[in-house]
Amino acid sequence: MTGVIERARTLDEEYGIFNALAESDDSTGGGRLEGVAVSVKDNICVMGMETRAGSRVLEGYRPPFDATVVKKCREEGALILGKTTQDEFGFGTFSVNTPFKVPLNPHDRERSAGGSSGGAACLTSVADFPHLALAESTGGSISCPASFCGVVGLTPTYGRTSRWGLVDYANSLDKIGVMGKTVADAALLLSVISGPDEYDSTVSQAQPEDFTEYLQNDVEGLRVGVPREYFGEGVDTGVSEAVWGAIKGLESQGATVKELSLPHTGVSLASYYIIAMAEASTNLAKFSGLRYGLHLPLEGSFDDYFSRVRARGFSEEAKRRVILGTFTRMAGYRDAYYLKALRVRTRVIEDFKRAFEEVDVLAAPTMPVVAPRFDEISGMEPIQHYMMDVLTVAPNLAGIPMISFPCGRVHGMPVGLHLMADHMGEGKLIRAAHALEVRG
Ligand code: GLN
Repeated sequence: MTGVIERARTLDEEYGIFNALAESDDSTGGGRLEGVAVSVKDNICVMGMETRAGSRVLEGYRPPFDATVVKKCREEGALILGKTTQDEFGFGTFSVNTPFKVPLNPHDRERSAGGSSGGAACLTSVADFPHLALAESTGGSISCPASFCGVVGLTPTYGRTSRWGLVDYANSLDKIGVMGKTVADAALLLSVISGPDEYDSTVSQAQPEDFTEYLQNDVEGLRVGVPREYFGEGVDTGVSEAVWGAIKGLESQGATVKELSLPHTGVSLASYYIIAMAEASTNLAKFSGLRYGLHLPLEGSFDDYFSRVRARGFSEEAKRRVILGTFTRMAGYRDAYYLKALRVRTRVIEDFKRAFEEVDVLAAPTMPVVAPRFDEISGMEPIQHYMMDVLTVAPNLAGIPMISFPCGRVHGMPVGLHLMADHMGEGKLIRAAHALEVRG
């Protein structure tokens, strides 16, 4: 793979893609990923390569091991190219919540590449060499950047892929998934990384599938559901039209289309942010400047030391989430916030279960708008950032698989179609998206 690392360095200078780059090509070749460069979101461990999850608190951390998904890619002959830019720990929707580089949108550099896997999506779009991306989603971090950058992003069922070696955000939500320029690319990488892992007991024991078998170019008889709530207020009309165009495309190829309701969509955003922040605040407790990452001179009491490390190591959004997440778990507030959010989550899951008794896949816009400009983002309050996730959090709460697929443009910027299926239904997503890719 001569020249790939050099080329990646040039693209990085133009678009802000990498927090770390491989120094040399140590791929072994001879597998399903021979000749393919695989980029790895910064929150996934790569042996010997600085892994900071977009945070200063992990500065200098070089894992002594590979995450299972990385190891599986190496075993298939891939070159592990580097660590892609992201929001700190995945806390964001535009990849701007980080003290490090911010990835730029490949279609307009004044706009966001999306988040939190922004670097992965940007590189997937601009790479002019064989490339696949390992990314991660907690509440939409694969779908959102895939949609904004016009690439394919596949978030598998919760528990389909191993999380050994992932820097946790929220354990009941985190999933490692994939991005590629085409549906076939995404299907190939998912086939490589899915399956049981002795180091992660939360992975499904289902045997790994060859997802490329679903690239059949046929949706005859596929039942497509269109959830009314996903086309409501706040969704750009141009975006809705592009998504409906794709849905009509599926219908003209023999799929049946019906509108239905997912009544708890509106409350899923609050439920998601309460649960995600509660879990994040406990996960961040381990970053204390003792074991790995940022260290400071040991002075004063332990409390003083931890406070200094955390004050310096975490940026604003991480601190906000520690405070809000701790608050929702406190005695006296736990019932009102955290436990209520869990009950809402159950309702959201029931909505999807009911829908999947009637249809095979659900189709909706991935994001309510196209990628915003950085000057628009800097004027937004945190709550406005969170509201951008209104269409992606519900399927993430339910742990169902989803694919974002480019389905047109508005103001010159890509629009994403979001297809969702029941647990372990990735094959249906691949089948539907591939048919659209081939026949439009
Ligand atoms: N934007 C969402 C959040 O900030 C989702 C991020 C993610 O999936 N990692 O929580």
